[in-house]
Amino acid sequence: MLLCVEEKLTMLEAKGYAVRSPNSPLEPFRFTRRDVGERDIRVEIAFCGICHSDIHQARDEWGGSAYPMVPGHEIVGRVTQVGRKVRGFKAGDTAGIGCMVDSCRRCPSCRRGLEQHCDTHVALTYNGTEMDEKTPTQGGYSDHIVVDEAFAVKVPPKMPLDRVAPLLCAGITTYSPLKRLGARKGSRVGVMGLGGLGHMAVKIAAAMGAEVTVLSHSPSKRADAKRLGAHEFAVTTDAGAVKSLAKRFDIIIDTVSADHDIDASLSWLSTEGELVIVGAPPKPLAIRSFSLILGRRKISGSAIGGIAETQEMLDFCAKKKALSDVEVIAMRDVNAAYERMMRGDVRYRFVIDNSTL
Ligand code: NAP
Ligand code: ZN
Ligand code: ZN
Repeated sequence: MLLCVEEKLTMLEAKGYAVRSPNSPLEPFRFTRRDVGERDIRVEIAFCGICHSDIHQARDEWGGSAYPMVPGHEIVGRVTQVGRKVRGFKAGDTAGIGCMVDSCRRCPSCRRGLEQHCDTHVALTYNGTEMDEKTPTQGGYSDHIVVDEAFAVKVPPKMPLDRVAPLLCAGITTYSPLKRLGARKGSRVGVMGLGGLGHMAVKIAAAMGAEVTVLSHSPSKRADAKRLGAHEFAVTTDAGAVKSLAKRFDIIIDTVSADHDIDASLSWLSTEGELVIVGAPPKPLAIRSFSLILGRRKISGSAIGGIAETQEMLDFCAKKKALSDVEVIAMRDVNAAYERMMRGDVRYRFVIDNSTL
């Protein structure tokens, strides 16, 4: 009871960068976060990656965005305070927080470790609401965050935190379907779109032992694709090059953020191959029925990964040294970074140094 009263009375001052409407730039913003509850940890944010989902939501490209919005769901930082009942973290530890900060924890999906598909409510890290479905959540373009320890993961020691931050979304979003589909030595994996998600898909699939081909509309990324671990590179706008891709892949991870030809991608799948859509262009996908019928091909979607799987991915990436290639920026340059991402000018993830706030 005393704690409840305290929680209501004490809020933590926070500062960050927010958008106030779909057309406005990110600008300095002061807000409050809840005080540290008994199962919460407070994390001083060191770095936050910029995901293309931040842009889609800041600009309301998916619809339903709520403002003011502090984006950011690729968060790493130092634990500065822990609640009385916290067992997994202590002050000084390094924690990671991804795309969600809570779920019901009781429904069949949560019990299967698929909290991101909670049947009741997922508290997204920003542009969402807490479990009361009223209190808005705010993300990692900010100085600190307060989160239930159950929704934070442990960052293995001695890792470069700027290169770890993107794993909290780009890493888990590509690890999860590759793992589910059993990517391994002998699997032929295509990765469509070499951006933040795509470059992690290449590193992770290669680390799993798969033979990886990058499918890109940017010829200039050929050398990078090889350096990142891809065995082959094909330019999807080159008619000659794509002809040789017919029935090539067991798995294609499609990370493309804009409208593109799904029928073409399906034709590159082997019999019973699976195309996993992780990119989320605002426009609905158009698919010819015969693209699926012939070859008994499959198409699926995938959203990030559960909390336990996110920890597993972090440990895997630490062991395999599969970290993000980043360009660290100051908070004041975040609008310019958005513009550069829209032009495809990112190699391969912008990460905000939150100490520049
Ligand atoms: P990103 O870094 O901007 O990369 C997107 C890539 O898509 C680009 O690098 C580019 O690769 C390709 N692309 C862009 N415009 C294109 C066009 N007009 N035609 C063909 N290809 C184009 O974005 P990201 O952060 O990786 O995010 C990618 C998508 O995944 C976004 O839609 C994001 O919202 C979504 N996402 C989904 C989840 C999930 O849980 N499912 C999680 C995170 C993000 P090339 O130059 O190599 O062609
Ligand atoms: Zn993301
Ligand atoms: Zn649930």
